[in-house]
Amino acid sequence: MPSFKTLDDLGDLTGKVALVRVDLNLPMKDGSATDVTRVEASKDTILELADKGAKVLLLAHYGRPKGARNSTMSVSFVQGDVGAVLGREIMFIPEVMGPVVEQSIGILRPGDIGLLENVRFWPGEEANDPEFARGIAAHGDIYVNDAFSVSHRAHASTEGLAHHLPAYAGRSMERELKALDAALGNPQTPVAAVVGGAKVSSKLDVLSHLVGKVQHLIIGGGMANTFLAARGVAVGKSLAEHDLTATANRIMDEADHAGCTIHLPYDVVVAKEFAANPPSLRTCNVHEVAEDEMILDIGPLAVEALADVLKTCRTLVWNGPLGAFETEPFDEATVALAKTAAALTQDGSLVSVAGGGDTVAALNQAGVAGDFSYVSTAGGAFLEWMEGRDLPGEAALVG
Ligand code: ADP
Ligand code: MG
Repeated sequence: MPSFKTLDDLGDLTGKVALVRVDLNLPMKDGSATDVTRVEASKDTILELADKGAKVLLLAHYGRPKGARNSTMSVSFVQGDVGAVLGREIMFIPEVMGPVVEQSIGILRPGDIGLLENVRFWPGEEANDPEFARGIAAHGDIYVNDAFSVSHRAHASTEGLAHHLPAYAGRSMERELKALDAALGNPQTPVAAVVGGAKVSSKLDVLSHLVGKVQHLIIGGGMANTFLAARGVAVGKSLAEHDLTATANRIMDEADHAGCTIHLPYDVVVAKEFAANPPSLRTCNVHEVAEDEMILDIGPLAVEALADVLKTCRTLVWNGPLGAFETEPFDEATVALAKTAAALTQDGSLVSVAGGGDTVAALNQAGVAGDFSYVSTAGGAFLEWMEGRDLPGEAALVG
């Protein structure tokens, strides 16, 4: 496990100022948040620091104001929602540095929480300008990063600050980094990866990275069609990227060399039109797809075989649904395999980590998100991690 400091390394903080990077980029409708998962994720961190006596200053971005003040993107819009989740009153501070911040810190008592303005109002944030980071850091005693979802960005608030103040991972960051380390960093083997979703082209780097890391690579969704087509299987009208035949073959060769078994479905669920429960719905062997049919899910025999693979594995990392899960009954394979993974996890034989926007939605649809070892809600950062890239926000904490 790469070492980073956590809140466990902090004692009494009475009167100290903790600058805490959190993700408050909440989806909003009619002036209030429609989903406060991101605030809930950082609740422990914020309250723990406050309970240790710190004056907690929350630092976050909201939207894409591109380095200029924008009255439609003030972080003050989420003040009420954040306060409600934390169960505390919060002071909004319309700057990130300077006399207004200094005066506000003077007003806050130990254990109080302040919310700084949208850090992306200043160009120094996304440019990761050291002067800008130093200006913010001047107000704090410690820096805590609890926003894994933006750790793939080297910005002043996600990376730069760690060079100017003693830096700590917040509880949510700590949980995420530990889960990811258990999944691909130092996993128990054998490791299986499920990669699904619509297109191979959006996940080429993920596939290339995984073949060298895992023992079983399970490919589903539209991506499986591209691989089947590359093997010479007629996939009819299925979503498939025929121009990626060479790439798919290269990935299969790399897997062979690395000792990674690629699993493609034997049977599939097809239809002539993409609609819920279409009359043309049928299940067939992959070699029996008609010219006017499209593959919309992997079949029950494939799911059974994959469940057997998971039973032999100790670790699973999952990104991307196995079928067009938003439309019935093309969620069946995803739901069934997710339930198997959840049960194995609950039995203690599997460590399961999943992430990706649609993947999280699919696991929720299956009702098993809570039974996985860890489900990451960090879309972009999770995918970059699956590509094997260094995350600047994490690297700065590890130092
Ligand atoms: P994530 O957001 O978890 O990274 P993706 O965005 O890559 O996942 O992929 C999810 C999308 O892939 C879903 O909209 C799903 O309907 C689509 N999909 C999966 N299988 C198929 C298929 N066989 N044909 C068409 N679309 C598919
Ligand atoms: Mg998606």
